[in-house]
Amino acid sequence: MFQNTLKKLFGTHSGRAIKKLDPFVADINRIYDSIQSKSDEELVERTREFQAELSEIESSLRSSLEGKPAEEAEKSVREALESKLEDILPEAFAMVKETCRRLCGQSLKVVGHDTEWQMIPYDVQLVGSIILHQGNVAEMKTGEGKTLVATMPIYLNALTGKGVHVITVNDYLAQRDAEWMGEIYKRLGLSVGFILNSMDNSQRREMYACDITYGTNNEFGFDYLRDNMSLRPEDQVQRGHNFAVVDEVDSVLIDEARTPLIISGAVDAPVDKTFKELRPLVQNLIKKQQSFVSSILSDAEALLKEERDDEAGYKLLQATRGMPKHRQLLKIYQEQGMKKLAHNAESELLRDKKLHEADDDLYFSIDEKTHVIDITDKGREAIAPDNPEAFIIPDLGELLHEIDENDGFSGLEKEQEKEKVHQLHAERSGKIHNITQLLRAYALYEKDVEYVVDGGKVLIVDEFTGRVLPGRRYSDGLHQALEAKENVTVERETQTLATITIQNYFRQYGKLSGMTGTAVTEAEEFGSIYKLEVMEIPTHQDVIRDDRNDLVYKTKREKFNAVIDEIEECNKKGQPVLVGTISVEVSELLSRMLKRKGVTHNVLNAKQHKSEAEIVTLAGQKGAVTIATNMAGRGTDIKLGSGVVDLGGLHIIGTERHESRRIDLQLKGRAGRQGDPGSSRFYLSLEDDLMRLFNSERIANIMDRMGVEEGEVITHGMVTRAIENAQKKVEERNFGIRKHLLEYDDVMNQQRQIGYDIRNQALTGEQIRETIQELIQDFIDNEIARQESDDPYSWDWDGLKHNLASHLLVDADLQKVEANDGASMTVADVHAFVRNKGISYS
Ligand code: ADP
Ligand code: MG
Repeated sequence: MFQNTLKKLFGTHSGRAIKKLDPFVADINRIYDSIQSKSDEELVERTREFQAELSEIESSLRSSLEGKPAEEAEKSVREALESKLEDILPEAFAMVKETCRRLCGQSLKVVGHDTEWQMIPYDVQLVGSIILHQGNVAEMKTGEGKTLVATMPIYLNALTGKGVHVITVNDYLAQRDAEWMGEIYKRLGLSVGFILNSMDNSQRREMYACDITYGTNNEFGFDYLRDNMSLRPEDQVQRGHNFAVVDEVDSVLIDEARTPLIISGAVDAPVDKTFKELRPLVQNLIKKQQSFVSSILSDAEALLKEERDDEAGYKLLQATRGMPKHRQLLKIYQEQGMKKLAHNAESELLRDKKLHEADDDLYFSIDEKTHVIDITDKGREAIAPDNPEAFIIPDLGELLHEIDENDGFSGLEKEQEKEKVHQLHAERSGKIHNITQLLRAYALYEKDVEYVVDGGKVLIVDEFTGRVLPGRRYSDGLHQALEAKENVTVERETQTLATITIQNYFRQYGKLSGMTGTAVTEAEEFGSIYKLEVMEIPTHQDVIRDDRNDLVYKTKREKFNAVIDEIEECNKKGQPVLVGTISVEVSELLSRMLKRKGVTHNVLNAKQHKSEAEIVTLAGQKGAVTIATNMAGRGTDIKLGSGVVDLGGLHIIGTERHESRRIDLQLKGRAGRQGDPGSSRFYLSLEDDLMRLFNSERIANIMDRMGVEEGEVITHGMVTRAIENAQKKVEERNFGIRKHLLEYDDVMNQQRQIGYDIRNQALTGEQIRETIQELIQDFIDNEIARQESDDPYSWDWDGLKHNLASHLLVDADLQKVEANDGASMTVADVHAFVRNKGISYS
């Protein structure tokens, strides 16, 4: 209720703000009409005039601001330039629109293909452009032409010469958009470039030197980190962070923002062999647990027959904590009320704080929600029957105490004994940590879902995008555990050399803006993290897509069968179908099922951006069947083939609800662009991960109450709502995770900025002696301020000596400082002493 009210308010707010832009749009169009007679050269000339005026504003302001603190000066310059940009906005936008008109009918080479230019921005696109220029997020549906929308603010803001960065979701789109839209900038006299992963430093520097640079967030972020690790200024490639336009902004600033960018290097340590050594032990343990859980489940089934429900519930709970993805268990859970039995047993044990009793029978216990794994005593005994002690972490405090108390040891022997205890402790905890990681790898991480194995390497799959994340590794030994599990080379542990979160990278920009088809659900996060306001831009044509009700099945098997039936049905008519999956595994399963039916289709996994884009372009042709994970082909327009309009347009099938509602909306949005006909339908099952982990209890209850039988399908508002609530819960949790990550990085960010600043000063040969002196001065001041009196003779010299030695490498104590002067010592003497010594070290 409350939410609806809010939404209405928000909607009208967006609407009102947009209404205010009408005069701007009218201005742009008026100027557009008036410049058609100008020659191309005259337009370039106008660009030069703008550039000259802006640079004049900046230089005269700077000379009047001389002596002002740098930060203040930057702010004034920025404001003055912004205000000038606002003045020239209508003319600049009109020049872009006019250039589009002149390009119409021309053939351009874009990523190797001939493309005919045929667009002149519509009025709603001009609105989107203004919204972007003002530093907001423009929500514009798929197919509304956001690529073109961005060109106007990009051209305008590039006039200051400070560089505009355009962020795309992959290399292919960076090149496509730079080559496609680049034609506009070039005709107006600006330079444009794009960054590809394969480029070397000198190519990159050339690209960044352009007025406008397209590239992925990874390239921009890593270039920033690398610049701040480089040893010579000529190795640095970027030149500041002025204005960024982020395409598919939700994917970049929200989904990808969950993992920070990290540059790591190999640690100088040997490869950890224990993973391979421990692997057979863990495999053995998994096998034992598996058969034990099977026997628990047989017990549970017997108890159920005798209607001893409470005892059965206890057994089911045990099985869940032992092997949450055990086949037989999942099957039992499909039956009415079974989940509830386990759930009741859990609540009861939790209440009596006796959950561990259920775990004690197992070899190890798994908490699926928190990912915590514990080995039990029984497990330890199974791993090392002769010496179960070997897998218990010794109590360090107690052992050290015992050694101290033992009068049989001499002083030296005590030290030696303590060293031994420390070593034992480190060795054991290391081993146990590795075993837990191996168990996690076996019990919770599934191949082709969480990760794939390719070319002898374990590669992480991004759970949001379904994309493989090359070069990224799980931390804390988990990656090595997966490598051991998959029997590929276990790689060396690496160490972080430089890192930044996506959030803090993008917050550096003087102005930030973004565009996507789906942003409103994340308006709060855009606002609180990036200070970006989300504005919904109306579509050029009304959306007439038919979004049908969800179909919910009890099992995955029934669900997938129904999906295949629907694909076949559409295919017989010739209606194109786009099937979205949330994992590579499901894509491949569907592909196998279709092959058996003899249905020709394409499978896209967001691995080959270019070729996939080419396939996706054809997804709207008659008879096309395309299966894609959710990032595959994002950013590529799906036009309908001839005759397809009469068949109902493109039909979208979702095979599972995604954790985030936004991703589902993206999938639906692939159909019905620019007023096209189209339809969408989601197929779900109670076995889907989202349902299993969250709230399936409630959904199962609803289905039980409605008396849904095996094989039956339901579509019911209550179920849809329950699912949506589950999604909201996950979204909130994920927002929490990102917020937490950011809080952690914020502290580091301050240090990073100060550190990088000083480093850059040093690199560019600026005098940093003064800066260092100031730092030392501040440090001494702080240290002295901590002393209780002004009399150096009464200070805590032990503490001071230690702090000065560890921070400034200055060896100072009362005698040394005094000896320096001879007379009675003052605070100033201490200052002078430390400063002199400190400087001589710096
Ligand atoms: P989005 O990123 O919003 O999903 P795109 O930028 O990929 O959309 O554009 C979708 C399609 O619309 C492209 O084929 C583009 O050529 C076309 N298009 C965009 N703007 C116009 C326009 N003003 N007139 C005609 N076609 C346009
Ligand atoms: Mg796009």
